[in-house]
Amino acid sequence: MNHRNEIIEKLSYHQYEPISFSDFKNSQLNHKSICYKKEILVENKKIEYFLIFPNSALLEFPKIYITEKQLLLLQQAFPHITQPIPHLQKRQISYLDNQLYYVCYFMENSQIIPRNDLGKFILTIEQYLMNFFVKFLDKDQYIQEYLEDFLGVVIVLSDLTNDKNNSWYIIKNEDKYNFLELKNKNDIFYLQANDQNNPNFSELFKNGKVTVQSFLDFIQKWDGSAYKKLEEHLNHINKKHKKEPVNILINWKNKLMGASFEWNDCQHKVLKKFLDKQYLTQKVVFYTVNLIDFKASILRNLPSKSQNGLLGKKVFQVGLGAVGGYIADSLIKIGAGIDDELTIIDNDIFSVDNVGRHLLGMEYIGKSKSQAFKEYAKKQTFNQLKKLNTNFDNVSNYNFQYFVDNPMDLIVDTTGNIEVQEYLNELVQQIPLESRPNLLHLWIFGNGECVQGFWHDAKLQDHQGGCIQCLGTSANGLFESTLPIRNLDKEQRFGVCSAFTPYAVSGGMMASSLGINMILEWLETGMVKNNYQTRYNSEYQNEKINDMLIMANVNCPYCGEKYAKSI
Ligand SMILES: [Zn+2]
Repeated sequence: MNHRNEIIEKLSYHQYEPISFSDFKNSQLNHKSICYKKEILVENKKIEYFLIFPNSALLEFPKIYITEKQLLLLQQAFPHITQPIPHLQKRQISYLDNQLYYVCYFMENSQIIPRNDLGKFILTIEQYLMNFFVKFLDKDQYIQEYLEDFLGVVIVLSDLTNDKNNSWYIIKNEDKYNFLELKNKNDIFYLQANDQNNPNFSELFKNGKVTVQSFLDFIQKWDGSAYKKLEEHLNHINKKHKKEPVNILINWKNKLMGASFEWNDCQHKVLKKFLDKQYLTQKVVFYTVNLIDFKASILRNLPSKSQNGLLGKKVFQVGLGAVGGYIADSLIKIGAGIDDELTIIDNDIFSVDNVGRHLLGMEYIGKSKSQAFKEYAKKQTFNQLKKLNTNFDNVSNYNFQYFVDNPMDLIVDTTGNIEVQEYLNELVQQIPLESRPNLLHLWIFGNGECVQGFWHDAKLQDHQGGCIQCLGTSANGLFESTLPIRNLDKEQRFGVCSAFTPYAVSGGMMASSLGINMILEWLETGMVKNNYQTRYNSEYQNEKINDMLIMANVNCPYCGEKYAKSI
């Protein structure tokens, strides 16, 4: 449905006046755009604004601008409105030779656009705009906004001073901050501002620009000791006579702001004093900062009950196949391999046949899966996984002594191979209880009808049983009572999956997501309540089993005795 006529009709009804897109310069507007203007009355002041729909799809809020002329009138009446103005971004767009400022009026991203009720839509916009201007004209709220939306102020500063509008991309390694791009080789001077002190941006701009002098005054008022460090740095600067700016990265409450300016590097004492004064009149350019810090990026997504995810946990993964590739990638994204070891072993080569159900793509064909995953993970994290080890190795080379010498918190078995499952189960049970890791087995069942996970809890297993062999053994097949698919022939009950079953990509992803859910449950609650879980694909409509807690099975070679004692 085309909303164009409806929008135009509604805007006229609400006293909006049409303007022509061709009167805008440097805008991306065209004949599909809908451009209107109106005045809003705030504190007895009429404020004219432009309301611009880039098209009639109604997928986003319309853009709102005010002219520089309108802004100057407001500044005359309300002298506290000085640059940087929170949420008012200078744009290179003009309307009839009048520079435009973009009004960032909708603060909550969660606001849903009522597309099928235009009257409501327009009233919502006007309400937001009213709130924006009320805040804007009130001095206290205006100053307060500097603190509440520090990063918003940095964007405004960058728009005002930085013609190219480029951001800094900074990579953090240990405690050092460096530019991501090698061509910008200048060092970054890192300045930590005291979180208890608040910045006051209102005196930063003088006569329409920020000079080095007013920037230094601003820092001094903000945080005296940070200022001293900066002063010290500037006094000892020696750029070897390259005309390159000084780069300063300021951190306040974990929020970053970049600033750069030309600075005198003359070492001659008398001359230096004279030159310093000249350099104080240079302009300061501000930058928004994108910090490339893998750890920080993943931490922000972890649930509050397990805010540190797998940071601080040692994890050992067996297998990098259809399940292993996806889960390895996911383990990293919940913190494995950053602060503590993530060791992954696999003894297979990545082949053409793997591509259709594996995390990795064509470029890794012919490499060992362990090497291929390491290269992939390095690329994905800008080499910030310092504790990832991958070995082209067979699990039979690892015995219980290895895990006594290298204690792990968690072993993830993704092989889907009943022999490996048993081998790991036997191995884990030889490890003394105090250093025994939890063991998670993941597999795709049968022809991919379902995926399953078994969580072997080191502590519980010792007194109430519950291990992978409680589901069946390599000698006797899987026990009927816990099979995820009913009525399988005896012959079909050996092994959890056939290596030649051509299940597509969803099997590996499903098993991996089931595994991550179980791990998150363990991190959040200290245990996995249902240690045996099953997820069916949507095609499977026959009888299903629920997630359950498996305790000692009488036929289990490990837990059978415990079962006998308990009855
Ligand atoms: Zn058992």
